[in-house]
Amino acid sequence: MNQPDLVIIGAGPGGYVAAERAGEAGLSVILIEENELGGVCLNEGCIPTKALLHSAKTYHKLKSSAEHGIVCPPAAFDLAAAQAWKQKTVGTLVNGIAGLMKKAKVTVVKGRASLDGKTVSVGSDTWTPKNIIIATGSSSFMPPIPGADAAGVLTSRQILTLSAPPKSLAVLGGGVIGMEFASLYAMLGTEVTVLEMLPEIFPFADPDVVGVYKRSLSGITLKTSCKVFSIEKSTVAFEEAGVKADLKAEKILVAAGRRPRIGLEGLGASGIEHSPKGIRVDDRMRTNLPGVYAIGDVTGRSFYAHAASRMAEVAVHDIIGKGKEKMRWHAIPWAVFGQTELAGCGLTETEAKSKGIPVKTAKLPLTASGKYLAENGVGPSVCKTVVHAETGAVLGVFLCGAGVAELIHSASLMIEHELRVADVTGCVYPHPTVSETVRDCLSLIR
Ligand SMILES: Cc1cc2nc3c(=O)[nH]c(=O)nc-3n(C[C@H](O)[C@H](O)[C@H](O)COP(=O)(O)OP(=O)(O)OC[C@H]3O[C@@H](n4cnc5c(N)ncnc54)[C@H](O)[C@@H]3O)c2cc1C
Repeated sequence: MNQPDLVIIGAGPGGYVAAERAGEAGLSVILIEENELGGVCLNEGCIPTKALLHSAKTYHKLKSSAEHGIVCPPAAFDLAAAQAWKQKTVGTLVNGIAGLMKKAKVTVVKGRASLDGKTVSVGSDTWTPKNIIIATGSSSFMPPIPGADAAGVLTSRQILTLSAPPKSLAVLGGGVIGMEFASLYAMLGTEVTVLEMLPEIFPFADPDVVGVYKRSLSGITLKTSCKVFSIEKSTVAFEEAGVKADLKAEKILVAAGRRPRIGLEGLGASGIEHSPKGIRVDDRMRTNLPGVYAIGDVTGRSFYAHAASRMAEVAVHDIIGKGKEKMRWHAIPWAVFGQTELAGCGLTETEAKSKGIPVKTAKLPLTASGKYLAENGVGPSVCKTVVHAETGAVLGVFLCGAGVAELIHSASLMIEHELRVADVTGCVYPHPTVSETVRDCLSLIR
């Protein structure tokens, strides 16, 4: 039997993008998935959350519609109907991936893969391909808190299937996923409390911008430096600033982060270097075993779908010998979704200074944009830019406000291509748009 050029384990945004690119390049590709095509991103992550968030945001907007001249009977929210919309969206995209795989002549195999050196098996089927890409993703981290894994305590997967908003919700973990669900349910009228262990949420982000984000939160009580001891039935026992307290909530969500899924059978025996933090890879996504690559969440390098897809492209380019592409980790944008969004790319002012880089910074509220103001009114928002004081190179862009995740790609372009302020201000941005604010903020730096 002819052996395939490439076997990919896992069909999330890492695996299916790798399969598509490799198939398009003429490689014979087998893509193995034990669940649904699309992985966590499409089935229980990025997409279902955004479908529900869209419904919640629309409902929330309708509540103040009279101010915008739209008079209608009081809006009611039907979470079961929103769930149906979510499923329809997910179904369309999963089918779309099946179509893409067919077009790229990728053979999709349903089943659980295991590894034995450079041989991959699913049941009695085995392949010894020239190259292997491991893209097995990540799973929710369960903190060692008594009661955290009890029936009734929700994970991010389970909270996606509720048919009615709870009256109250305790969220353990103020990370990207925890704050997204907090925002979603707060918009639906749930009384939300977030308990975060660290002194500050989003320690990777610019503190000025995080401050604006916190001021924008509505319907969410945020408790930081909070140590949770136990969960019993509907009560969370915790300590905040040395004071012990109990929090009662109808539903409890544990959102304590994600861990690389390194349980692939045969991974260790095959000699592939890994730890609980992920499979070790270089900047071309190569593991220590020649011809074996790892991409996406399983590497522990980044827990974003777009990063997984970029890692896929870099790995496939290495396999087909197309250039010597490398991951440029600092140019990967990140975003926190919700009623207010937070997005960033590049170095924060603090990070730049700690590296001894001289910087100049500027800040501008997004309400400086007439379009933003017309659509959102007055409220906390900001754009902050960080620029190299001597060369004028754009080092970092951070945004907080409605819809800012749609704007951050321009920052990744600037940072990926090492653009300078003059390169950006020499470009024309359309008016009136919110994107103008990024250009205007950069032009404040002289
Ligand atoms: C609630 C939530 C919201 C999120 N929102 C966003 C967002 O808005 N934006 C963003 O960029 N990221 C978001 N993420 C993160 C994003 O989903 C992940 O970064 C992304 O899915 C990682 O892609 P991946 O290809 O590495 O792995 P995954 O998507 O996890 O896919 C891995 C696949 O491998 C399969 N697999 C594992 N082991 C085997 C095996 N032995 N055999 C066969 N198949 C196997 C799994 O079934 C799975 O389908 C979110 C995550 C969650 C949980």
